[in-house]
Amino acid sequence: MLKILFLLAAATLSAQKTLDIYWIDAEGGAATLIVTPSGQSLLADTGNPGDRDAQRIYEVATKQAHLSKIDYLLTTHFHSDHVGGAPALAKLIPIGAYLDHGDSVETKNLADAQRWEAYKAIATGHRKSLAVGDKVPLKGVRVDIVTSNGDVLAKGGEANSYCASAAKKDPDPTENARSLGFKLTYGKFTFLDLGDLTWNKELELSCPQNKVGQVTLFQATHHGFYNDNSGAPPHVWAIHPQVVIVNNGPRKGLGANAWDTIAKIPGLEDTWQVHLSLATDAAHNTSEQKIANSEPTTECKGSFLKASISSDGKYTITNSRNGFSKSYAAR
Ligand SMILES: [Zn+2]
Ligand SMILES: [Zn+2]
Repeated sequence: MLKILFLLAAATLSAQKTLDIYWIDAEGGAATLIVTPSGQSLLADTGNPGDRDAQRIYEVATKQAHLSKIDYLLTTHFHSDHVGGAPALAKLIPIGAYLDHGDSVETKNLADAQRWEAYKAIATGHRKSLAVGDKVPLKGVRVDIVTSNGDVLAKGGEANSYCASAAKKDPDPTENARSLGFKLTYGKFTFLDLGDLTWNKELELSCPQNKVGQVTLFQATHHGFYNDNSGAPPHVWAIHPQVVIVNNGPRKGLGANAWDTIAKIPGLEDTWQVHLSLATDAAHNTSEQKIANSEPTTECKGSFLKASISSDGKYTITNSRNGFSKSYAAR
């Protein structure tokens, strides 16, 4: 009898395990930590160079998520606000495998070359470059690579009626357009992180067919469509997110146009922000309770946002600054 009770208790405990996603404040950089119900971890990007962002990631990984290692570090691209913290983080916690889009294409100036060499120094021997169609082999959740090294998903999806208004911009020769983007699926819940993918690639991905499909939770690309170089409306509206999370900085990303594009997403239920956007007004920011940090970087405490997702598609987003949370059901 005791044994049966113990097994029941164990079954209940394991049934309550959630998929957790943390948006760690990298002050306008990116650091998104995903922990699966079985305890595997995928960190997408490591924030800026130096100790600050690496330390914030380490604190969340160890104290919130109770991790002793990062299984996969996925670097969307080799700009400093995405890979800068990797060398410092690698000194704090073991990293199992390094996933990227292939070699950096920006190595001409000294700082870029040094950052690229620093990445290779920690990753070589544990590095795997992923192509569109590849998967990150996590148990219990599916992670599909949908953009990599300038390629995007080429097939599938429904016709996208927003494409009529799809005006292209000048080609983007930078690392941004090569961002390694992924779509995570856990039951009815889906999450899309495309790094800093820029305008023309967003259109390629979503026009004339919306290849990536609809998503539940969308990390607003490029810190909230930074300088309007990302956030092509035919793409943003077609993926039809229920909730948008913006990993902006105090004065980076989420300008007024970006806010307006997000606000016009059909059926959007909420927007959450890692930072108050100081460059715009209250009408172009979400409500105070859904903003993790409101100060300029020098005074910022680095609060994070967390989503906890159950296997039935119900999920709760929590603001670590004030404990405010709200629950949703994936459609
Ligand atoms: Zn960036
Ligand atoms: Zn901050």
